[in-house]
Amino acid sequence: MSAAESNGFSFISDSYYENFLESLAQIVSKLLTDQETEAVLTSIRSFQEKLRRLSSRNLQRLNLEITASEKERPSLCRHVGKTCTQNCTRGFIKAFGVAFIVKYIVGILPSLLTGKITKKPAILKQMAGSSFISAYKGVLCAMRHFRKSHDKDSDKLNAFVAGCVAGLALAFDRDRRRRQSVMLYLLTRAIQFNGAWFMKQWSLRRKEKHPGEIKWDDHLAKFLQKYSGVAVMMIANAQLIYAFLFNHDTLPNSFYAFLLTHGGFKKNFGRMAGPVTEMVGSTVNQILEDHSPIMIPEGVSTRDFYFRNVSPNIGSLIPSKLHHKYILCAVQHPFHESCTGDKLGLFTDELLRSAKLYVPLNIIMLIVFRSKQFMLDPKHVGQKFILSCFRSCLFLTMYVVIGLATPCWLRRLFNREAPWFYAATGAVAGSMIVIEASARHLELALYCLPRAMESLWKTGIKNGWVKNVPHGDILLFMASMGSLMTLYQNEKDTISSHYLGVMTRFFGQN
Ligand SMILES: [Zn+2]
Ligand SMILES: [Zn+2]
Repeated sequence: MSAAESNGFSFISDSYYENFLESLAQIVSKLLTDQETEAVLTSIRSFQEKLRRLSSRNLQRLNLEITASEKERPSLCRHVGKTCTQNCTRGFIKAFGVAFIVKYIVGILPSLLTGKITKKPAILKQMAGSSFISAYKGVLCAMRHFRKSHDKDSDKLNAFVAGCVAGLALAFDRDRRRRQSVMLYLLTRAIQFNGAWFMKQWSLRRKEKHPGEIKWDDHLAKFLQKYSGVAVMMIANAQLIYAFLFNHDTLPNSFYAFLLTHGGFKKNFGRMAGPVTEMVGSTVNQILEDHSPIMIPEGVSTRDFYFRNVSPNIGSLIPSKLHHKYILCAVQHPFHESCTGDKLGLFTDELLRSAKLYVPLNIIMLIVFRSKQFMLDPKHVGQKFILSCFRSCLFLTMYVVIGLATPCWLRRLFNREAPWFYAATGAVAGSMIVIEASARHLELALYCLPRAMESLWKTGIKNGWVKNVPHGDILLFMASMGSLMTLYQNEKDTISSHYLGVMTRFFGQN
């Protein structure tokens, strides 16, 4: 039995808040910041603002000015007022402290929120993170002095190599599971920001090709930018929901538990929640293999059918009068004959569950990031807070309800069963992201993407399509880190401001 299941009926599992590592990282990055770093951040933000307003010609001039002012400075490095050694050691101490705090918060937060303190966080495994940052800074300075690179383009290679070498620090981490999730997280970010870099280059090329004109490729770019989050969300969730029902061993435990709880399975079936989702997958496979009918014969009650063919344990819980038309409807929602009735109940249940999930988290974020604004204008900030909570709850609720309704519709429409119904379920559920504020589309999609990639890879290994590469996770981590740090040092505007803030607080000016 998985760790998530062994928690039984408890509403929030201990690993639950692992799903919100990102918000935690943001909060923690606030802790280690100082005036100097915040000043850098403000200047970057105003610079990005300026960039948006400037035309491309002005942009070139601005670039020239920046390069000129950089040339006046004799130093190769950009960590003003600190020697290379100071820059590295300070980074190490700062990061060590922060790694400690992150670990502590991740360990303690669920207990604080649920009011039961059971878990003592393990301490002193933070070497990986801290040595990573100082190794990066050290190699970067060394490369600069060795190659004497004064221009920006050759500094890109320095940052890439420094990022890759520092990425080796991941090998220190003995926990394979954590190593993999860190790697997948950074790989996703590397894909995201390289995508932004590509879009930026494309936009410059378009402006060169037809200056002042708006053509079809501009519309295409705009469309891609607007709907990339929705598309990624749909693709990622197609894999995730399919895996949830057919290969749940390829999903991380915390995420599997999240789906079991929010899909209503935990509430309906308690400890049997996991086995019931497995039954959906195995029953579909069985029907396809045996070419057996997809309906429960007339005159046979759902209870009798369950008893004989599915699970006597659950069968005994079903009222004897019920008769479901489809076998899979009976497996999915045994306690409701009507698909619509089941979904209405699910809607109210899930709205409550998602409120329990989002409201505490949003309150923490409000306190940490908006407390000043809240004091100044409580009415406006309060309204925004309520609206954003409501939107998030509605999104998660519709994700679950419309998602679970999809296979019910599809089997009526096609009058058969097919595994792709359940991938379509994920895609349809994922498309509910349009309910959320558009700024959050890509964020949520990129939260799902690494989990989907991991699950797809594991399914591939299980079925023998692919083979594990020794130390592949470390190699991928090195490559992601290399390309991320290249962008961080040289193309800051391709990194979205939220992450740029977090990265600047961790890595500072180099
Ligand atoms: Zn230096
Ligand atoms: Zn149904």
